Amino acid sequence: MQTSIFTQAVDSLHDFTFQTYKHLTENPELSWKEFNTTRFLATELDMAGIPYRITKRGVGLIIEIKGREPGSQTVIIRGDIDNLPIVEKPGKLIPSQVQGVSAACGHSAHAAMTLTAIKILWEHRSEFRGTLLALLQPAEELINDPGCLYLIEHEGLLDYPNIIGAFALHCTPEYLPGDVHLKAGEFMASANEMRIRFLGKPRHVQYTGANTIIAASAFINDLQTIKAQHVQALDPLLLAPSKIKSSNSEMKGSNILPDSTEVTVVFRVFKPAVNEKTREMLVKIADKTAEIHGCKVEYTLYDGIPPVKNDPALTHWAEEKLSNLLGREHVKPADYRLGGDDICFLSQRVPLVYIRLGSGGAEAYQFPLHDAAFQVNPACLDTGVRVLVSLAFQKLQ
Ligand SMILES: [Zn+2]
Repeated sequence: MQTSIFTQAVDSLHDFTFQTYKHLTENPELSWKEFNTTRFLATELDMAGIPYRITKRGVGLIIEIKGREPGSQTVIIRGDIDNLPIVEKPGKLIPSQVQGVSAACGHSAHAAMTLTAIKILWEHRSEFRGTLLALLQPAEELINDPGCLYLIEHEGLLDYPNIIGAFALHCTPEYLPGDVHLKAGEFMASANEMRIRFLGKPRHVQYTGANTIIAASAFINDLQTIKAQHVQALDPLLLAPSKIKSSNSEMKGSNILPDSTEVTVVFRVFKPAVNEKTREMLVKIADKTAEIHGCKVEYTLYDGIPPVKNDPALTHWAEEKLSNLLGREHVKPADYRLGGDDICFLSQRVPLVYIRLGSGGAEAYQFPLHDAAFQVNPACLDTGVRVLVSLAFQKLQ
């Protein structure tokens, strides 16, 4: 019965959800710069009379909705609100109006769905027991300074009583709208990053001495030995140089060798031992390469983020509830991904279920996350709202 009440509420807010999604897709902001987004979401909450607080850093919102016996238990739902520095391809249904910034990970949809879920749960707060904590979270995209960890460490996220469940969803273009995909246990990788700078002296090309570009390319070539020689073939390791920049990149002429070349390497793993080994070998290879090429080396090795882990018991509970809500044929297994999500910091501390929400379908919606042509199929929006409302409401009984 409650399910049908919520379906009506989701239907009646359909235009609201879409318009929120459209506005946020047109006006995307980068991580830790979501000031207009925060203001926009705060205004919507004000109009609905829903209390909230903005984080101390001025971006992102925490909404606390108290039901009966608010101190008895807490459930969290999260929607992320940051976007990516990507120049979009033309032809999208809702193009970004901000040059060079794109909602290319679907966070505009996550924020819109979460906002509508908050509005519905607010209206029904007398019917649940405990506190609903909704996060409109900044800076999901950063491995360094991730928003979820900030909320835990500086906004007292874990101080709420008896957190019995947390739910988040992520648009997934490989899956169909109307479908959700779940997997118990660890299913998204630990994401890590290292920056290596080879340092030499600037000089004219005719003189001998260290060439930091050659050192950087030797380092890049040797990266493959980590996977081939130091990690079991059945243990996943994604290791990719993703950026390279020399100090003379912006100069006009081409006859001066740069005094530094910087390489960024990203690596994704599941096992801590593989993470350790990769870190150790990256440093070793960088040191040895610098020695052979007669240059110095500096590096920054970030802590990285751990894998996202779905709580097995809560995942099975959610599968049952979602089968009732959407039909068993729409609740499917999720596959392993080497993508990361900073909700991992929450999943280490409280029972969490991270749900992949199908957002693909027609060809125009099948471009991968972070692609310049990525866009969410708006047909998935109402499903996402129903998922968030239904899981949070039923857990708070
Ligand atoms: Zn994302």
